Amino acid sequence: MFDAIELKKQFPIFSNHPDLIYLDNAATMQKPLCVLDAERFYYENHNANVHRGAHRLATAATDAYEGARHVVAQFINAPSHEEIIFTRGTTEAINLVANSWGNSLNTGDEIILSTLEHHANIVPWQMLAERRGVIIKIIKLDEHGAVDLAHFSSLLSNKTKLVAISHVSNAIGSIQPIQLICEAAHHAGAKVLVDGAQAVAHLNIDVQELGADFYAFSGHKVYGPTGIGALWVESNTLNSMSPWQGGGEMIAAVSFSGSTYAAAPYRFEAGTPAIAQAVGLSAALTWISALDRAALLNHEQQLRQQLEEGLIQMTGISIHGQSPDKAALTSMTFAGAHPYDVAQFLDHKGIAVRVGHHCAQPLLQSLGVSGTLRASFAAYNTSSDVDAFLVALHETLEILG
Ligand code: PMP
Repeated sequence: MFDAIELKKQFPIFSNHPDLIYLDNAATMQKPLCVLDAERFYYENHNANVHRGAHRLATAATDAYEGARHVVAQFINAPSHEEIIFTRGTTEAINLVANSWGNSLNTGDEIILSTLEHHANIVPWQMLAERRGVIIKIIKLDEHGAVDLAHFSSLLSNKTKLVAISHVSNAIGSIQPIQLICEAAHHAGAKVLVDGAQAVAHLNIDVQELGADFYAFSGHKVYGPTGIGALWVESNTLNSMSPWQGGGEMIAAVSFSGSTYAAAPYRFEAGTPAIAQAVGLSAALTWISALDRAALLNHEQQLRQQLEEGLIQMTGISIHGQSPDKAALTSMTFAGAHPYDVAQFLDHKGIAVRVGHHCAQPLLQSLGVSGTLRASFAAYNTSSDVDAFLVALHETLEILG
């Protein structure tokens, strides 16, 4: 049995807001005390700049930062910690790939995206397309809101250089069959970038088993701090990539006649990195790894089912995205009420949800709606949260409708 009530006690935000029902986890997750403590401990005991120092604090800070790289590698089963680049998050990770590896693409090369991508996995490729004459193709979705694999196959050709795809949709929750997508893409000679922002907190990620070439995620969506994330790159690809930002930390030697660059991953980490945040991320990944992940997944799925069963009993509610393989979030619209108005009423009752286009405007256009209300779950949510949501939603719709 997964004891969410007990686990919730580890999250100070709920002591400070005892009535809070937090169902906005896909936007960002709350942090357990051990993550907050890890950052504070680092600042109180080890704070220094990393890599170059000749004093004991610099060594301690470097050990903490590099130790976090090992923890990230282990968490996603990367073959080596040297394949992990720290970034500010998923957005920066994808921009890094577009501005580094992407510059090897030429006019007429093709990149395949899907309809359900977050803007972070659309706009960097559009900017690349403008710079290099690359063509972007879009995979349609099936009737359940997952990528249409037949359509995907029809888009693949020897012109395809990259397939960039979300593991889990942040807007409707569908889980993509990444292994199948990687096999087909590799068969066509293309690489695969997986946007794992919504996947890492819910699924066990094994980048080797998935067979991807790039895997990106954000710390704050897996119980860790903001301002830190990671990009894993398969080593052959990584070693072929040029740096995208210049500065300190990423060089081998600098002179006015030219500079040479450090080995990967350091040549992709210009400037002083987010050291304390990396330490916090490491604590978050260690924390979640100690949980029974199968029981956690089951717990979150039960909450989603409870929610969706409750919604089906009510009239005038559409649930968007009914993929059989779906993460623990539910996106909905209402026949007689605007999602934003509903969310305002829910907020008065202490219930936090997300409304809007969820940075996935093309997806919402394809669904024929301008915005949805999204409830998304994490380890500390309980079935009484879902009950409270359903009661509050019922009351809200009575008032609004
Ligand atoms: N991709 C997906 C699927 C996301 O849900 C998000 C965050 N909403 C991002 C990318 C961007 O993540 P970040 O803002 O942390 O860089």
